[in-house]
Amino acid sequence: MTDRQVMDTGRIIAAHGRRGTLETQSGDLLPYLIQGRRLRVVCGDHVQWDYDEPGVLAIVSAIAPRTNVLERQPPGRPGTEILAANLSLMIVVCAPIPATDWFLVDRYLCSGELMGCRLLLVNNKSDLIEDKHDTLLAEYSLAGYTCLSVSAQDNLGIDSLRDALKDQTGIFVGQSGVGKSSLINCLVPNADITVGPISTSTQEGKHTTTASAMHSLPDGGRLIDTPGVRDFVPAIPEPQFVQAGFPEILAVTHQCRFSNCRHLREPDCAVKQAVLNGTISQRRYESYKRLFHTLTG
Ligand code: GDP
Ligand code: ZN
Repeated sequence: MTDRQVMDTGRIIAAHGRRGTLETQSGDLLPYLIQGRRLRVVCGDHVQWDYDEPGVLAIVSAIAPRTNVLERQPPGRPGTEILAANLSLMIVVCAPIPATDWFLVDRYLCSGELMGCRLLLVNNKSDLIEDKHDTLLAEYSLAGYTCLSVSAQDNLGIDSLRDALKDQTGIFVGQSGVGKSSLINCLVPNADITVGPISTSTQEGKHTTTASAMHSLPDGGRLIDTPGVRDFVPAIPEPQFVQAGFPEILAVTHQCRFSNCRHLREPDCAVKQAVLNGTISQRRYESYKRLFHTLTG
């Protein structure tokens, strides 16, 4: 520590490399600079800071222990990358268009479970109807998830979403083009997020959000928006942790013959039996196996 004695705490609300904005305990917003080369802060971090120039620039010198982190394997690089910290709610957004990548939805849900977050599946663009999409969505209610249908365009279900976020630190995750920015614009006045047009050839949205930011909601609660969540490979240290990310699978594992059953080719596996009985969705089980195999290489 330096000879400055008056340290304060705050929360990172925007992070771009070594600079960004923090919110002080009294609710003021201050630009900051990171002290030292090794410290890497993300949105949601609680930090210690001191003034470099009073009222002008904060110097961040330490990060408080994190309750959890959203961490991914960055594309094309070894190692892992932390996208956000101290989250209490993960909102997985899907929509009938662009066609949902359900394996991606399952990867987000798995990460959220392992982080100990509350989880909410939000089906945006409910103004568009697609029967197959609705059938697949129903499998998530079967697995015990709360599913909320909303429309950012028609302002439907937004009050329920606002209620779910009250007093939470939430994050929207989901593939590009499902309407995450549009939903944030509905929830946060003056969020000023650019909404990307859907490209007509792929029906995927364009990647328009570039920096991570945490918005305060008028009724309480916070919402983190980070571009790193669009193509998401979760950082899971060992394949045996994957089952803990699928609650309907975890619920029956104690009935497997082997206590270290991987639910792949083992005999007397309660998970495979539940898939045969239809109490566990075949497709969710396929996601489990795919993620398990991804991690075993
Ligand atoms: P993001 O990539 O997830 O942030 O998605 P955007 O918010 O940029 O939205 C992508 C496209 O979907 C834009 O053209 C939006 O106008 C459109 N969109 C967003 N919400 C809705 C909705 O509720 N209904 C319909 N029909 N289109 C929507
Ligand atoms: Zn088993």
